[in-house]
Amino acid sequence: MTELKNLITKSVADIFIPKILKEFVELANSNKMNKKSFIYLITIKYSYEKQILQYFRKCEKTEISSVESAVDKFGIELCAFVIFNISLMEKLNNNSLRDCFIRMFEKCIFTAVSSYYIAKKANLRSPWKAYLAGLYSNISYFFIYKYYPEHLQKIMSIEMNSITRMNYEWETLGMTHSDISWMILGKAGIPEDIRGPVRNHHLKRSQVVCEDKHIKETCASVYLGSMLTTVFYENFALAIDFKQEIQKHLNIQVVGLDDLFSTILLEFKIKLNLLDVYDFTIPGYFSIIELFQNTLTEKNTELKEAKQALSKEKKQRLKFQKVLESYNKKLVGIAIKDPLTGIYNRRYLTERLNDEFIKATKYNSSFLIITCDIDHFKNINDTYGHGFGDEVLVKLVQVIAKTIRKADLLARIGGEEFIILCNQTNDYDGILIAEKVRSQIEKTAFVYEKNTVVNVTMSFGVANFTKNIKSVQELMELSDNRLYLAKENGRNRVVYTDSTNEALM
Ligand code: GH3
Ligand code: MG
Ligand code: MG
Repeated sequence: MTELKNLITKSVADIFIPKILKEFVELANSNKMNKKSFIYLITIKYSYEKQILQYFRKCEKTEISSVESAVDKFGIELCAFVIFNISLMEKLNNNSLRDCFIRMFEKCIFTAVSSYYIAKKANLRSPWKAYLAGLYSNISYFFIYKYYPEHLQKIMSIEMNSITRMNYEWETLGMTHSDISWMILGKAGIPEDIRGPVRNHHLKRSQVVCEDKHIKETCASVYLGSMLTTVFYENFALAIDFKQEIQKHLNIQVVGLDDLFSTILLEFKIKLNLLDVYDFTIPGYFSIIELFQNTLTEKNTELKEAKQALSKEKKQRLKFQKVLESYNKKLVGIAIKDPLTGIYNRRYLTERLNDEFIKATKYNSSFLIITCDIDHFKNINDTYGHGFGDEVLVKLVQVIAKTIRKADLLARIGGEEFIILCNQTNDYDGILIAEKVRSQIEKTAFVYEKNTVVNVTMSFGVANFTKNIKSVQELMELSDNRLYLAKENGRNRVVYTDSTNEALM
């Protein structure tokens, strides 16, 4: 991971991010974007005159004689999109990335266009930010292709959904592709209102940690835009989920949605003409849905028949039930994330702990765990209701995740109990991290129905791995006992030894 960070820090950004981008965003963000400044930027400062005229000749099939008339006819926003596409394409084309270029670039444009139209439909103030964020969300894949080609091949071939893929990235590169894109843009000086949505493009609205309302709204549009790309290019089965999420988000009915999809597809094809790509890899949305619905009808008929057979044959029914049960168990086993808070669950943590344990025993590496539990959570549920209790859990996880180090792993191991796994630690890191989290939570305002501030605190038990500890189980028991001591000694505190009078406050 350090190697990867170094690579990005050593001006890798220049290879992937065109210079004009930063200036464009700065102008727009300081309200200095107007026809004159835009034309100055693209003609005099960056000489895109020839390309932009060529583009309009080719795609819009209109004869445009000057950049001024292009801006008059199509507006600054659309002309800016053309420049974004052209400048990015030039960058990528220059760097022996041609092989993976067309296919991936196609997806970038698709995400950009969908994010933009979704943002527009949601009435965002600056939908162009969603366009840019969409376009650059996966810039990291070009980076990985250039510097870690073997990983890219693996990432692209994994039995895919975004969770398994991001876990793989996290385990091999120490970061997900969203974080890498975010870092590359940061290196190029692109501000958080574009980078934020890039970093969060796989997170649902409820999982995004962000104070700024406008950035959060852009995040939601780019999340849906990139989900639509996944639907079209990778996993048609997500179409139904996508429909539900976008309907909820935009609050519109199916008729309006189909309009939105047609616009996205049309715009997308126009933009791709620019690349001389006429032979699209994407199948039409409507044909996918039709196929999906036909399959669904078929399955429903099968199910009906099976049900009839079941009612006749009791024995067979029991057999089916057993098969169903075993499938359900497998399904539950496959899930590694907690649905309420989005963090890892106990099963995943246990696997990671076993790995860490073997590593530490074999190679003398260090790690520690912090077990923590909300104080008097039952009272919170009893006083303000279970729904508010859930909100507290979600917000609390966001606070913890923000406070711990990037490489630490946070998992929910029970109702209101969590474990933080930290590796490559020094002796006192556990106390420091736990104390930081404890005080951060104490400072956070959990607000019930807009006007009641509810105080939430947590207790912590810290246990470092040492040679005397013979199993993961033993380590977990140790930190759990210390958590118990923290509770006994008044709660809202960190305990890191087995003797009560050394409890830290
Ligand atoms: P202590 O300080 O000793 O930990 O007290 P406590 O009240 O937090 O502990 P106790 O174990 O008595 O109660 C835990 C409560 O957490 C009871 C349970 O209803 C609640 N809880 C567990 N999971 C969830 C959840 O997912 N959502 C909500 N809202 N509450 C939950
Ligand atoms: Mg508790
Ligand atoms: Mg508990």
